[in-house]
Amino acid sequence: MDVSTNKENHAAPVGRFAPSPTGRMHLGNIFTAVLSWLSIRSRGGKWILRIEDLDPQRSKYEYARQLEDDLQWLGLTWDEGGIDDIGPHGPYRQSLRGDIYNQYLTRLKSTGLTYPCFCTRADIMATQAPHQSDGRVIYKGTCRPEEFPSCEPLQEPARRHATRLFVPNEEIEFNDGVFGKQHSNLATDCGDFILQRADGAWAYQLAVVVDDGLMGVTEVVRGSDLLLSTAQQLYLYNLLEFKVPAYVHLPLICNTEMRRLSKRDQSLSMEALRLCYSPDEIIGHIAALANLIPSYSPCSLKELIKLFSWDKIPKTMSIVHGDISQ
Ligand code: GLU
Repeated sequence: MDVSTNKENHAAPVGRFAPSPTGRMHLGNIFTAVLSWLSIRSRGGKWILRIEDLDPQRSKYEYARQLEDDLQWLGLTWDEGGIDDIGPHGPYRQSLRGDIYNQYLTRLKSTGLTYPCFCTRADIMATQAPHQSDGRVIYKGTCRPEEFPSCEPLQEPARRHATRLFVPNEEIEFNDGVFGKQHSNLATDCGDFILQRADGAWAYQLAVVVDDGLMGVTEVVRGSDLLLSTAQQLYLYNLLEFKVPAYVHLPLICNTEMRRLSKRDQSLSMEALRLCYSPDEIIGHIAALANLIPSYSPCSLKELIKLFSWDKIPKTMSIVHGDISQ
Protein backbone atom coordinates (compact mmCIF):
# COMPACT_ATOMS: atom_id res chain seq x y z
CA MET A 1 0.00 0.00 0.00
CA ASP A 2 1.58 3.31 -1.01
CA VAL A 3 -0.07 6.01 1.03
CA SER A 4 0.35 9.34 -0.66
CA THR A 5 0.20 12.04 1.95
CA ASN A 6 -1.73 15.22 1.44
CA LYS A 7 0.50 17.11 -1.03
CA GLU A 8 -2.53 17.61 -3.22
CA ASN A 9 -4.42 19.35 -0.40
CA HIS A 10 -4.54 23.07 -1.20
CA ALA A 11 -6.87 24.14 1.62
CA ALA A 12 -5.40 26.12 4.55
CA PRO A 13 -3.16 23.78 6.54
CA VAL A 14 -4.21 22.50 9.95
CA GLY A 15 -1.53 21.54 12.45
CA ARG A 16 -1.75 20.34 15.99
CA PHE A 17 0.30 19.93 19.11
CA ALA A 18 -0.81 16.90 21.09
CA PRO A 19 1.07 16.73 24.39
CA SER A 20 0.40 14.24 27.17
CA PRO A 21 -0.02 16.11 30.46
CA THR A 22 2.16 13.78 32.53
CA GLY A 23 4.60 16.40 33.84
CA ARG A 24 6.13 19.74 32.98
CA MET A 25 7.17 20.06 29.31
CA HIS A 26 10.89 20.05 28.45
CA LEU A 27 12.93 21.56 25.66
CA GLY A 28 12.18 18.58 23.37
CA ASN A 29 8.41 19.08 23.69
CA ILE A 30 8.81 22.78 23.00
CA PHE A 31 11.02 22.06 19.98
CA THR A 32 8.13 20.08 18.45
CA ALA A 33 5.53 22.71 19.36
CA VAL A 34 7.57 25.61 17.94
CA LEU A 35 8.32 23.89 14.61
CA SER A 36 4.72 22.74 14.13
CA TRP A 37 3.46 26.25 14.99
CA LEU A 38 5.95 27.95 12.61
CA SER A 39 5.07 25.58 9.78
CA ILE A 40 1.37 26.39 10.14
CA ARG A 41 1.75 30.11 10.81
CA SER A 42 4.11 30.54 7.83
CA ARG A 43 1.26 29.30 5.61
CA GLY A 44 -1.62 31.09 7.34
CA GLY A 45 -3.18 27.91 8.70
CA LYS A 46 -4.88 26.81 11.91
CA TRP A 47 -3.10 25.34 14.94
CA ILE A 48 -4.90 23.03 17.37
CA LEU A 49 -3.94 22.13 20.93
CA ARG A 50 -5.15 18.64 21.87
CA ILE A 51 -4.57 17.26 25.34
CA GLU A 52 -3.66 13.55 25.14
CA ASP A 53 -4.65 12.50 28.64
CA LEU A 54 -5.64 8.91 27.89
CA ASP A 55 -3.48 7.49 30.66
CA PRO A 56 -5.52 8.11 33.82
CA GLN A 57 -2.67 7.12 36.16
CA ARG A 58 -0.10 9.54 34.74
CA SER A 59 -2.16 12.42 33.32
CA LYS A 60 -3.09 15.31 35.57
CA TYR A 61 -5.36 18.29 35.02
CA GLU A 62 -2.80 20.60 36.73
CA TYR A 63 -0.16 19.55 34.21
CA ALA A 64 -2.54 20.39 31.35
CA ARG A 65 -3.14 23.84 32.86
CA GLN A 66 0.59 24.37 33.32
CA LEU A 67 1.23 23.25 29.77
CA GLU A 68 -1.21 25.87 28.45
CA ASP A 69 0.44 28.52 30.58
CA ASP A 70 3.91 27.57 29.25
CA LEU A 71 2.71 27.69 25.62
CA GLN A 72 1.08 31.08 26.18
CA TRP A 73 4.22 32.43 27.91
CA LEU A 74 6.24 31.45 24.82
CA GLY A 75 3.68 33.06 22.49
CA LEU A 76 2.50 29.77 20.94
CA THR A 77 -1.13 30.71 20.45
CA TRP A 78 -3.70 28.15 19.34
CA ASP A 79 -6.89 28.67 17.34
CA GLU A 80 -8.75 25.59 18.53
CA GLY A 81 -8.59 23.25 21.45
CA GLY A 82 -7.14 23.28 24.94
CA ILE A 83 -8.88 22.63 28.23
CA ASP A 84 -11.52 25.28 27.57
CA ASP A 85 -12.61 23.60 24.33
CA ILE A 86 -12.31 26.46 21.90
CA GLY A 87 -13.63 25.46 18.47
CA PRO A 88 -16.01 23.10 16.71
CA HIS A 89 -14.32 19.73 17.24
CA GLY A 90 -14.37 19.50 21.02
CA PRO A 91 -13.88 18.15 23.49
CA TYR A 92 -10.13 18.49 22.94
CA ARG A 93 -9.16 16.39 25.95
CA GLN A 94 -8.94 12.76 24.90
CA SER A 95 -10.24 11.58 28.28
CA LEU A 96 -13.60 13.16 27.32
CA ARG A 97 -13.79 11.61 23.84
CA GLY A 98 -14.57 7.99 24.75
CA ASP A 99 -18.00 8.00 23.02
CA ILE A 100 -16.41 9.14 19.79
CA TYR A 101 -13.71 6.42 19.94
CA ASN A 102 -16.44 3.87 20.63
CA GLN A 103 -18.27 4.78 17.41
CA TYR A 104 -15.11 4.24 15.39
CA LEU A 105 -14.29 1.03 17.22
CA THR A 106 -17.77 -0.25 16.32
CA ARG A 107 -17.08 0.65 12.72
CA LEU A 108 -13.80 -1.26 12.76
CA LYS A 109 -15.49 -4.25 14.39
CA SER A 110 -18.02 -4.32 11.56
CA THR A 111 -15.20 -4.84 9.03
CA GLY A 112 -14.53 -8.27 10.55
CA LEU A 113 -10.87 -7.34 11.06
CA THR A 114 -10.93 -7.17 14.87
CA TYR A 115 -10.93 -9.96 17.43
CA PRO A 116 -11.07 -10.26 21.21
CA CYS A 117 -7.74 -10.83 22.93
CA PHE A 118 -7.31 -12.33 26.40
CA CYS A 119 -3.51 -12.23 26.58
CA THR A 120 -1.87 -10.57 29.53
CA ARG A 121 1.35 -8.62 29.10
CA ALA A 122 3.21 -11.55 30.67
CA ASP A 123 1.69 -13.95 28.07
CA ILE A 124 2.85 -11.69 25.26
CA MET A 125 6.38 -11.29 26.65
CA ALA A 126 6.64 -15.08 27.02
CA THR A 127 6.11 -15.57 23.28
CA GLN A 128 8.73 -12.97 22.25
CA ALA A 129 11.91 -13.83 20.42
CA PRO A 130 14.81 -13.59 22.93
CA HIS A 131 16.22 -10.40 21.44
CA GLN A 132 13.83 -7.99 19.88
CA SER A 133 16.73 -5.54 19.84
CA ASP A 134 14.77 -2.26 19.88
CA GLY A 135 12.49 -3.38 22.71
CA ARG A 136 9.41 -3.50 20.50
CA VAL A 137 6.87 -6.17 21.30
CA ILE A 138 5.47 -7.94 18.25
CA TYR A 139 2.20 -9.75 18.91
CA LYS A 140 2.32 -13.30 17.62
CA GLY A 141 -1.43 -13.66 17.07
CA THR A 142 -2.10 -15.99 20.03
CA CYS A 143 -5.80 -15.05 20.25
CA ARG A 144 -6.38 -14.62 16.51
CA PRO A 145 -8.97 -17.20 15.40
CA GLU A 146 -8.01 -19.67 12.71
CA GLU A 147 -9.13 -18.73 9.20
CA PHE A 148 -8.99 -15.03 10.00
CA PRO A 149 -10.18 -12.56 8.83
CA SER A 150 -13.56 -14.13 8.20
CA CYS A 151 -16.41 -12.36 6.43
CA GLU A 152 -18.50 -12.17 9.60
CA PRO A 153 -17.73 -9.93 12.59
CA LEU A 154 -17.04 -12.12 15.64
CA GLN A 155 -19.38 -12.48 18.61
CA GLU A 156 -18.37 -10.38 21.63
CA PRO A 157 -17.40 -12.74 24.44
CA ALA A 158 -18.76 -11.97 27.90
CA ARG A 159 -15.31 -12.40 29.46
CA ARG A 160 -13.18 -9.24 29.88
CA HIS A 161 -11.04 -8.79 26.80
CA ALA A 162 -9.03 -6.34 24.78
CA THR A 163 -9.85 -5.70 21.10
CA ARG A 164 -7.12 -6.24 18.55
CA LEU A 165 -6.94 -5.30 14.90
CA PHE A 166 -5.66 -7.77 12.32
CA VAL A 167 -2.86 -6.39 10.10
CA PRO A 168 -2.10 -7.60 6.57
CA ASN A 169 1.29 -8.90 5.45
CA GLU A 170 2.10 -6.03 3.11
CA GLU A 171 4.42 -3.03 2.91
CA ILE A 172 3.13 0.41 3.84
CA GLU A 173 5.15 3.27 2.35
CA PHE A 174 5.05 6.94 3.13
CA ASN A 175 7.19 10.01 2.77
CA ASP A 176 8.30 11.73 5.96
CA GLY A 177 8.95 15.49 5.81
CA VAL A 178 12.38 15.17 7.48
CA PHE A 179 13.40 11.49 7.21
CA GLY A 180 12.20 10.92 3.62
CA LYS A 181 10.86 7.64 2.24
CA GLN A 182 9.81 5.14 4.92
CA HIS A 183 8.39 1.66 4.66
CA SER A 184 7.14 -0.89 7.10
CA ASN A 185 5.39 -4.24 7.06
CA LEU A 186 2.89 -4.25 9.91
CA ALA A 187 2.71 -8.06 10.13
CA THR A 188 6.47 -8.40 10.72
CA ASP A 189 7.25 -5.05 12.37
CA CYS A 190 4.36 -4.81 14.81
CA GLY A 191 1.74 -7.56 14.55
CA ASP A 192 -1.99 -7.21 15.21
CA PHE A 193 -2.38 -4.25 17.53
CA ILE A 194 -4.68 -3.18 20.36
CA LEU A 195 -7.53 -0.73 19.82
CA GLN A 196 -9.02 -0.92 23.29
CA ARG A 197 -7.47 -2.49 26.35
CA ALA A 198 -9.28 -5.00 28.57
CA ASP A 199 -9.73 -2.30 31.25
CA GLY A 200 -11.55 -0.13 28.69
CA ALA A 201 -8.64 2.28 28.07
CA TRP A 202 -8.34 3.51 24.50
CA ALA A 203 -5.19 2.83 22.55
CA TYR A 204 -3.18 5.83 21.43
CA GLN A 205 -3.16 4.58 17.81
CA LEU A 206 -6.96 4.60 17.54
CA ALA A 207 -7.45 7.87 19.44
CA VAL A 208 -4.81 9.79 17.51
CA VAL A 209 -6.17 8.76 14.10
CA VAL A 210 -9.80 9.45 15.00
CA ASP A 211 -8.88 12.84 16.46
CA ASP A 212 -6.55 13.96 13.66
CA GLY A 213 -9.08 12.70 11.11
CA LEU A 214 -12.12 14.43 12.65
CA MET A 215 -10.21 17.63 13.42
CA GLY A 216 -9.12 17.89 9.78
CA VAL A 217 -5.41 17.86 10.61
CA THR A 218 -3.30 18.10 7.44
CA GLU A 219 0.17 18.03 9.04
CA VAL A 220 1.34 15.91 11.97
CA VAL A 221 4.63 17.04 13.54
CA ARG A 222 6.11 15.00 16.39
CA GLY A 223 9.26 13.35 17.70
CA SER A 224 10.96 10.57 15.74
CA ASP A 225 10.18 8.16 18.61
CA LEU A 226 6.74 7.93 16.95
CA LEU A 227 8.02 7.28 13.42
CA LEU A 228 7.33 3.55 13.79
CA SER A 229 3.72 4.20 14.83
CA THR A 230 2.98 5.96 11.57
CA ALA A 231 2.40 2.80 9.52
CA GLN A 232 -0.19 1.59 12.06
CA GLN A 233 -1.89 4.95 11.87
CA LEU A 234 -1.88 4.99 8.06
CA TYR A 235 -3.51 1.57 8.07
CA LEU A 236 -6.25 2.93 10.36
CA TYR A 237 -6.66 6.03 8.18
CA ASN A 238 -7.31 3.75 5.26
CA LEU A 239 -9.87 1.60 7.10
CA LEU A 240 -11.70 4.62 8.52
CA GLU A 241 -11.52 6.54 5.23
CA PHE A 242 -10.04 9.70 6.69
CA LYS A 243 -7.88 11.98 4.60
CA VAL A 244 -4.21 11.22 5.33
CA PRO A 245 -2.10 14.10 6.72
CA ALA A 246 1.52 14.89 5.88
CA TYR A 247 3.94 13.50 8.49
CA VAL A 248 7.03 15.24 9.80
CA HIS A 249 9.10 13.49 12.48
CA LEU A 250 11.75 15.49 14.28
CA PRO A 251 15.14 14.30 15.51
CA LEU A 252 15.09 13.84 19.27
CA ILE A 253 16.96 16.20 21.54
CA CYS A 254 19.33 14.38 23.88
CA ASN A 255 21.07 15.25 27.11
CA THR A 256 24.85 15.08 27.51
CA GLU A 257 24.59 11.36 28.35
CA MET A 258 23.09 10.89 24.85
CA ARG A 259 19.71 9.90 26.24
CA ARG A 260 16.61 11.54 24.85
CA LEU A 261 15.23 14.19 27.14
CA SER A 262 12.76 13.01 29.71
CA LYS A 263 10.79 14.64 32.48
CA ARG A 264 13.80 13.81 34.73
CA ASP A 265 16.09 16.29 32.90
CA GLN A 266 14.98 19.06 35.18
CA SER A 267 17.50 21.68 34.03
CA LEU A 268 15.74 21.64 30.64
CA SER A 269 12.17 21.55 31.94
CA MET A 270 9.99 24.60 31.37
CA GLU A 271 10.14 25.29 35.07
CA ALA A 272 13.92 25.76 35.04
CA LEU A 273 13.97 27.41 31.61
CA ARG A 274 11.41 30.03 32.63
CA LEU A 275 13.46 30.91 35.70
CA CYS A 276 16.65 31.50 33.69
CA TYR A 277 15.64 32.71 30.24
CA SER A 278 13.22 34.97 28.42
CA PRO A 279 10.84 33.56 25.75
CA ASP A 280 13.04 35.04 22.98
CA GLU A 281 16.14 33.35 24.42
CA ILE A 282 14.41 29.96 24.46
CA ILE A 283 12.98 30.49 20.97
CA GLY A 284 16.44 31.60 19.74
CA HIS A 285 17.98 28.41 21.04
CA ILE A 286 15.33 26.27 19.35
CA ALA A 287 15.85 28.21 16.12
CA ALA A 288 19.59 27.44 16.27
CA LEU A 289 18.95 23.72 17.00
CA ALA A 290 16.58 23.65 14.01
CA ASN A 291 19.15 25.40 11.73
CA LEU A 292 16.71 28.25 11.14
CA ILE A 293 19.44 30.70 12.24
CA PRO A 294 23.22 30.11 11.88
CA SER A 295 24.04 30.33 15.60
CA TYR A 296 22.29 31.13 18.84
CA SER A 297 20.87 34.59 19.33
CA PRO A 298 17.58 35.57 20.95
CA CYS A 299 14.77 35.96 18.44
CA SER A 300 11.00 36.17 18.32
CA LEU A 301 8.53 33.70 16.86
CA LYS A 302 7.39 36.46 14.52
CA GLU A 303 10.90 36.85 13.03
CA LEU A 304 11.17 33.08 12.58
CA ILE A 305 7.96 32.77 10.58
CA LYS A 306 9.82 34.32 7.62
CA LEU A 307 12.86 32.05 8.05
CA PHE A 308 10.97 28.79 8.46
CA SER A 309 11.44 25.88 6.04
CA TRP A 310 11.29 22.12 6.64
CA ASP A 311 14.32 21.72 4.34
CA LYS A 312 16.56 23.33 6.97
CA ILE A 313 15.74 20.90 9.80
CA PRO A 314 18.65 18.52 10.57
CA LYS A 315 18.10 14.75 10.51
CA THR A 316 20.42 14.00 13.40
CA MET A 317 19.72 14.46 17.05
CA SER A 318 20.86 17.53 18.93
CA ILE A 319 22.65 17.37 22.24
CA VAL A 320 21.94 20.05 24.75
CA HIS A 321 23.66 21.07 27.95
CA GLY A 322 22.07 22.52 31.05
CA ASP A 323 22.88 26.06 29.91
CA ILE A 324 21.03 26.33 26.63
CA SER A 325 22.56 29.60 25.50
CA GLN A 326 26.08 28.09 25.20
N1 GLU B 1 0.85 12.53 23.00
C1 GLU B 1 2.11 12.21 22.38
C2 GLU B 1 3.25 12.73 23.23
O1 GLU B 1 3.06 13.61 24.05
C3 GLU B 1 2.23 12.77 20.99
C4 GLU B 1 1.41 12.03 20.01
C5 GLU B 1 1.43 12.56 18.60
O2 GLU B 1 1.88 13.70 18.37
O3 GLU B 1 0.97 11.84 17.73
O4 GLU B 1 4.37 12.27 23.05
